[in-house]
Amino acid sequence: MVSDQKINLLGLERGAMEALFVELGSKAFHGRNVLKWIHKHGVSDFSLMTDLPKRLRARLEELAEVRVPEVVFDQPASDGTHKWVLELECGNRIESVYIPDGDRSTLCVSSQVGCSLDCSFCSTARQGFNRNLSAAEIIGQVWVAARGMNKPLTNVVLMGMGEPLANFDAVVSAMEIMQDDLTYMLSKYRVTVSTSGIVPAIYRLNEVSDVSLAVSLHAPNNALRDQLVPINRKYPLEELIPACREYVRGDKRRKVTWEYVMLDGVNDSIRHARELIRLLEGTPSKMNLIPFNPFPGTDYRCSPPERIEAFRQKLMKAGIISITRKTRGEDIDAACGQLVGKVRDRSRRELRLARAVPRGR
Ligand code: SAH
Repeated sequence: MVSDQKINLLGLERGAMEALFVELGSKAFHGRNVLKWIHKHGVSDFSLMTDLPKRLRARLEELAEVRVPEVVFDQPASDGTHKWVLELECGNRIESVYIPDGDRSTLCVSSQVGCSLDCSFCSTARQGFNRNLSAAEIIGQVWVAARGMNKPLTNVVLMGMGEPLANFDAVVSAMEIMQDDLTYMLSKYRVTVSTSGIVPAIYRLNEVSDVSLAVSLHAPNNALRDQLVPINRKYPLEELIPACREYVRGDKRRKVTWEYVMLDGVNDSIRHARELIRLLEGTPSKMNLIPFNPFPGTDYRCSPPERIEAFRQKLMKAGIISITRKTRGEDIDAACGQLVGKVRDRSRRELRLARAVPRGR
């Protein structure tokens, strides 16, 4: 198909866009204008980009396109949360979720089709891993949401399906695009990448980007974290914590946001809270306690609200700002860990799970 050979301008950041236009014998500022047309005005049709010379528009029609993801499902929840299911060219589906909250409106974006990390309490993990998203497919989710809602997006979190730092280059490019003045103008404090803790990638991110960092901690010691977040066996806490501390060093406004899913009888006792306080000593921290969202086939249960509150109070008393994340969009399966999309599991994980000995806790 001819269209497959066209360059998709949706995924180009400012530098790449300018370079392309210069290469076409045009001017860099036309590239900047196109960036603005696409992202600020939501225009994907070159014929509507009226400040471009006619000849340039004709040339763009031949060589390039603005290929946006196809929305197959677009549903508001009763609490104002909104979920989009997007179909990619390969037929796989990904999900993004819009969460309004007072003056804020946050979009939660996916970075991979499925996920390879196998965290034991996450439904995306059950889907296995299919492939990385391109920068265009990542920023495309922002494009779709910005068109679909009448309020501007104030925050983007890479907390949807997938491990963003395992798709490093595309994620960094997409985050670069969303921070541009010509596009969505999101400051570094309003774009957050969430990782399960791929330590070398955290150091690399620190070199090339200044977005905010969230880390899925979920356990205060290696023995428990090895079970819940298996990547911990490769990058244990004694490597993870210093990498995160290094990331926020030198900026007083910066804190690491820790995510901690509250699992009944697993990681939610006062003893765990005490251990956590010790672990995070000396690291500027903000704690997000996430009530566990169940999904079919899981044995885990969410901690009771009183226990979550006691845990939170313990951390607060030790000076760690802690909030309990409100569960949003449950009625449309849009809550944390419930994004499943439709993935062909290349890792055949379902099969391995079926054969595995049931997990003891
Ligand atoms: N792979 C990245 C990005 C996913 S973010 C990461 O691990 O950070 C999604 C967040 O939701 C993570 O903190 C994840 O641990 C959490 N989560 C996953 N499944 C969940 C569930 N069933 N209930 C509540 N939170 C869950």
